[in-house]
Amino acid sequence: MSSIQKKTDVILIGAGVMSATLGSLLKELAPQWEITVFEKLSEPGEESSNEWNNAGTGHAALCELNYTSEKPDGSIDITKAIKVNEQFQVSRQFWAHLVNSNLIRNPQDFIMPLPHMSMVQGTKNVEFLKKRLEALSASPLFEGMEFSDKPDKLKEWIPLIMNGRTSNEPIAATKIDSGTDVNFGALTRLLFDHLKTQNVEVNYGHSVQDLTRTNDGSWEVKVQDLANGRIETHTAKFVFIGGGGGSLHLLQKTGIPESKRIGGFPVSGLFMVCNNPEVVAQHHAKVYGKAKVGAPPMSVPHLDTRFIDNKKSLLFGPFAGFSPKFLKTGSNLDLITSVKPNNVLTMLAAGAKNMGLTKYLIQQVLLSKEKRMEELREFIPNAKSEDWDIVVAGQRVQVIKDTEAGGKGTLQFGTEVVSSSDGSVAALLGASPGASTAVHVMLEVLDKCFPQHMNEWEPKIKEMIPSYGLSLSENPELFKEIHASTAEALGLNGKELAHS
Ligand SMILES: Cc1cc2nc3c(=O)[nH]c(=O)nc-3n(C[C@H](O)[C@H](O)[C@H](O)COP(=O)(O)OP(=O)(O)OC[C@H]3O[C@@H](n4cnc5c(N)ncnc54)[C@H](O)[C@@H]3O)c2cc1C
Repeated sequence: MSSIQKKTDVILIGAGVMSATLGSLLKELAPQWEITVFEKLSEPGEESSNEWNNAGTGHAALCELNYTSEKPDGSIDITKAIKVNEQFQVSRQFWAHLVNSNLIRNPQDFIMPLPHMSMVQGTKNVEFLKKRLEALSASPLFEGMEFSDKPDKLKEWIPLIMNGRTSNEPIAATKIDSGTDVNFGALTRLLFDHLKTQNVEVNYGHSVQDLTRTNDGSWEVKVQDLANGRIETHTAKFVFIGGGGGSLHLLQKTGIPESKRIGGFPVSGLFMVCNNPEVVAQHHAKVYGKAKVGAPPMSVPHLDTRFIDNKKSLLFGPFAGFSPKFLKTGSNLDLITSVKPNNVLTMLAAGAKNMGLTKYLIQQVLLSKEKRMEELREFIPNAKSEDWDIVVAGQRVQVIKDTEAGGKGTLQFGTEVVSSSDGSVAALLGASPGASTAVHVMLEVLDKCFPQHMNEWEPKIKEMIPSYGLSLSENPELFKEIHASTAEALGLNGKELAHS
């Protein structure tokens, strides 16, 4: 069997939104570098980044209640909300740069303006929502957020949710019009189309099997061409492991010390999708509720208008569940084969700590469609079973590691860049806030892996992302300017589809 051996500057593993973003940033900063991509599926953006596999929320903490926690003294901590919002502004700026430079032609192919709302029921929760709005109002990032507990106003904002509601329980919502629905699948495909024009070699149907360090500090990557089973060997000075749920196994293969004592906990997801255009036409927002007691933060229920394939649809969920697979197209052995001698104690500790969560997730998997409809009816009292279908969403692999605060085997809900000390390899683990913060996270990869180039790259980064290195919440004028210019470039000003 003849073997292919090739050398390149950069290898990106996986054709999801993260590799797409890193490749696009590198082509702006170091256009002469050769980049090769390997993706085991036949197209880009088919796993978590696909539009049907995630909720498409441009996470900016405008509606997600889990980014604003109540402190023991009753005040609201908005630190995380500011952080997530600032990170989303970085994505908006880079996407606006791509549009302004004609590298992406029509922004409405991947991003649409859509009000973001939070909705709660019960006196205590209504109080919380009021306090949350007051706290957020102190920051310019959340300007324009409105609150209402008046049924008439709420009917105007969310008729589908208010119609047929018989309970006398207090209900309230906040609404901000500067939210977005992002089609991350379309964005990924657009970025890969662009990368192809920049001489990036993208190999689909190629599964990365192994990574070995060579004597000169480069990485030898063993890849299988799935069309003929042939093994190829590719060498690069820098490798980014952007395999989504597949990243942990690949990171473990590098053997770098930073890969030790890390585990993964897979959480599956389901959405309900509405197939009745009359119902779809009655809703125009992303409405986030509060997570149920015992539910993980990624299963906060929400009812979303989505723009997919030039069509409006409605998605409700996600219903979290348990599956041992790390990718939707993965194997039932993924979880078990991720347990290694160096992480077995971490994994066992996590297992013991998270019995309740695991039980909850298994119960969720077993829910019948009618049980799921009951949960949906907490949002849409008049929802009819025949109008809704179930779609299987992507897998999220949450990071498990030992932390000072949480001890051995602590489950993490954020994203994590793990890189070697010499910066020759980096992997992205975790899935939240996810694709929305791809640009911020990939800049972190560049910072960790190419510190020697950052000074030289800084002017170009600032040209693409004017707020780079600055806090927008502390620079209200700059925020206003950037928010307005990115809204203009991305077509987010007054171009909303008619409500019905
Ligand atoms: C249910 C759900 C809801 C979500 N909602 C949101 C949301 O509303 N907003 C948001 O911002 N984010 C959301 N996310 C998170 C977001 O989808 C992810 O953070 C993001 O898509 C991850 O992109 P990625 O490129 O890292 O991974 P992926 O898109 O999964 O891409 C990884 C790619 O690597 C390939 N691969 C894996 N292993 C190998 C290998 N060995 N060789 C070759 N190729 C390989 C895979 O086939 C895949 O194509 C959600 C996720 C889920 C699951």
